[in-house]
Amino acid sequence: MFIFDLELVNFRNYVRAHIRLDRGLNLFVGDNAQGKSNLLEAIYLLSTLRSSRASQDSDLVRRDILESDFPVARLACQVERAAGNLALELAIIGRTIDPAHRAGKRVRVNGVPRKASEAVGQLCAVLFTTLDIDIVAGPPLMRRRYLDMMISQVDRGYLRAMQKYARVIQQRNSLLKRIQAREAQAHELTFWDQELAHAGGTIYWARADALGHLALQAEQQMERLSDGLESLTLIYRPSIGGLDQYDAPIDDAEWTGRMIRALQAARPREIAAGATLVGPHRDDVEILIDGMPADAFASRAQQRTAALAMRLAEASYLRRALGDDPVVLLDDVLSELDARRRRALLEYIDTFQQTLVTTADPDRLRDIYTRASGRFVVNAGTITRFEGE
Ligand code: ATP
Ligand code: MG
Repeated sequence: MFIFDLELVNFRNYVRAHIRLDRGLNLFVGDNAQGKSNLLEAIYLLSTLRSSRASQDSDLVRRDILESDFPVARLACQVERAAGNLALELAIIGRTIDPAHRAGKRVRVNGVPRKASEAVGQLCAVLFTTLDIDIVAGPPLMRRRYLDMMISQVDRGYLRAMQKYARVIQQRNSLLKRIQAREAQAHELTFWDQELAHAGGTIYWARADALGHLALQAEQQMERLSDGLESLTLIYRPSIGGLDQYDAPIDDAEWTGRMIRALQAARPREIAAGATLVGPHRDDVEILIDGMPADAFASRAQQRTAALAMRLAEASYLRRALGDDPVVLLDDVLSELDARRRRALLEYIDTFQQTLVTTADPDRLRDIYTRASGRFVVNAGTITRFEGE
């Protein structure tokens, strides 16, 4: 798929910007703090309905109008897709003035109001940023987020299971606290254990399936990026105890059985902690570079390359799941790569229909500059197309 029309109104530092995009490579050049990342964030937001920067809704609305009577940011795009063309509109209400209205997001798909869960993934995108190194070097939360944002774009059942699972965890944790305070009985957990195992199963199977594809892809991408010098291994580490890739459950019933047993074994600890200690919210993905744990042993450059390989694997996963190309967004990542890695990256990215690249340093990216089909300057919240050299 590719976006051919994009409009931002009162979003971050944009008053109003309206651009036509090309297929192929679109390059956005601008000094620091002009709105390049905001632009890619807008597209990512249209795709996932979640900010790439973990910001609150009110942060997304242009600051100058947040106190006005109509504190609303609006994003809209038109997309050509294998599954039929798409008009997507997102309104972000930063603050409520009238108590009868809720703050938050409203979305329309081809003119029809939709629930957020139905709108996620209509536009599919993969975003590369300089913070991606945290997927490799950061806490398990970053790796779960990597999986969740990816899978929920192409699997609506996954998104629903995630929402259900979060509610169950909340209820179960408050019950655990009441049991701890002797206000409730331990046997009341039995119902919630079943609920947790059920919603958790959907999450487990989807993650296990995604990892199957991702591990293989990431390994190949790492080999390409490093000229065969470095190897990358991803191993799913689900948090139901004693599980590894050679010991994966074979069906749903077995998974549920194991999850229930793990919960029973953890029960005294869970009551003492007042929190659920096993289940997909504690999953991790182990990352090895040349056979050694990447967070503790790899160099920064190796970690960065591994993160890049994982994003490329994500793009490949989305393409396979969708039967269409996701839009590729590269925020500032090219200038930190050496020329050889950049070539290897672009060679693969070129197989996708559309890529948006930002940089503050076009002189370092002459190769990109010359092959771009669309070139834009971003300056203080305005975007202008320019032709020629
Ligand atoms: P860099 O090259 O440093 O990455 P950039 O072009 O990517 O810069 P952005 O991250 O897009 O810059 O941010 C541009 C500006 O947007 C920043 O100065 C920031 O203060 C501003 N900004 C962010 N949120 C809002 C908002 N809600 N209202 C107004 N301005 C905002
Ligand atoms: Mg930026």
